[in-house]
Amino acid sequence: MTRHGPSDLRFDQIEKTMKQFPDSIDLKPHNLSTNIFSVMGNLAEKHGAVNLAQGYPDFEAPPELTDRVHHYMRQGFNQYAPMPGVFPLRDTVSRKIHALYGARIDPDSETTITVGATQAIFTAFSAIIRKGDEVILFTPAYESYTPNIAWNGGIPVYAKLDPPDYNVDWDHVQRLISPRTRLIVINSPHNPTGAVLSNEDMLRLQDLTRGTDIMILSDEVYEHIVFDGTEHQSLLRFPDLAKRSFVVYSFGKTFHTTGWKIGCCIAPESLTLEFRKLHQYIVYSAITPVQYAFADILKDDRHYRKLGRFYQDKRDRFLGLLQNSRFHLQPAKGAFFQLLDFHDISEESDLDFAVRLTRESGVATIPVSIFNPGRRDERALRVCFAKHDETLRKAAEILCRI
Ligand code: PMP
Repeated sequence: MTRHGPSDLRFDQIEKTMKQFPDSIDLKPHNLSTNIFSVMGNLAEKHGAVNLAQGYPDFEAPPELTDRVHHYMRQGFNQYAPMPGVFPLRDTVSRKIHALYGARIDPDSETTITVGATQAIFTAFSAIIRKGDEVILFTPAYESYTPNIAWNGGIPVYAKLDPPDYNVDWDHVQRLISPRTRLIVINSPHNPTGAVLSNEDMLRLQDLTRGTDIMILSDEVYEHIVFDGTEHQSLLRFPDLAKRSFVVYSFGKTFHTTGWKIGCCIAPESLTLEFRKLHQYIVYSAITPVQYAFADILKDDRHYRKLGRFYQDKRDRFLGLLQNSRFHLQPAKGAFFQLLDFHDISEESDLDFAVRLTRESGVATIPVSIFNPGRRDERALRVCFAKHDETLRKAAEILCRI
């Protein structure tokens, strides 16, 4: 590969070209940059690159699931669902949570079906963050948290997770807690690092928040994708935490149906009441036939119980193919992302390196700095291994030549 100067991919320029409104229209300033996923996606397409940037699976949904959706569509289940979601799905979700995590969740007053985890997160933040409230986040962090908090007048307070393990330093978290701390956001398994919180982590969090008014938002969209015999430590296993928390799930991650945008939010009755006050006016309800289909499908645990093994095999095959590369690789413990640490390969920023890799070598990845406030450099790229083996083989072949 030839060396280039700083990349000519400028987010502010891309945005300028998108503003086509007449000057007389006063736009609301959001101070947000264009989403890196569309930028990298376009770049990958333009250069015919193997695309490991897209954070979603390449696989088809289970046919029995799409059959059930067709069935309910044909049977006329096509009008608005009840605001909190259809009862059979809320009921199945609460039974599943009991079977997996031992918690008794009331399907009527503690379970709300949402338009993906994205809407659940936005709604939970909007329901409880007041102007000036502090929200503790772990960085790198899933990209919607900071803007969602800021729109609600909250102040994000960052606790950094460090490579190679990206473990939480709870003593540091303790020092970040102030009288204004309203919420702590956790995400396990973690996007983008693949880190997983342990039982000890959850007990530390429980100790730290005991006797306070601090609430927790636990983003568990990758709950079924944990590796090497580890168990997912759902927050719902910890009653002292559960009584002050929103827990967010996504059916899209579990059933290879991210495009359906459907998930749920579990919270105690008082928090669910606040959540639904906004939910009713943000979306009112989620897609009806899909809810009924999931209500049927989730009764059978075989698909999601095999998911961890399925993705662990993918991770292992991918890491095996990369063993002669110059990247440093700490195997992901969960989710479907692997970090490629490139500090032995290039001095470039991760954005420049990712752009060059797409243009010159033909592999699209995501620079980890985009998950950091202020774009602090991470010297690592995120790749998604929820792809067909052939795609992973092609990408690995290229990455081994870097
Ligand atoms: N949280 C995390 C950590 C995610 O990775 C994603 C999806 N990329 C979401 C939430 C959003 O999930 P959904 O597609 O159900 O809105």
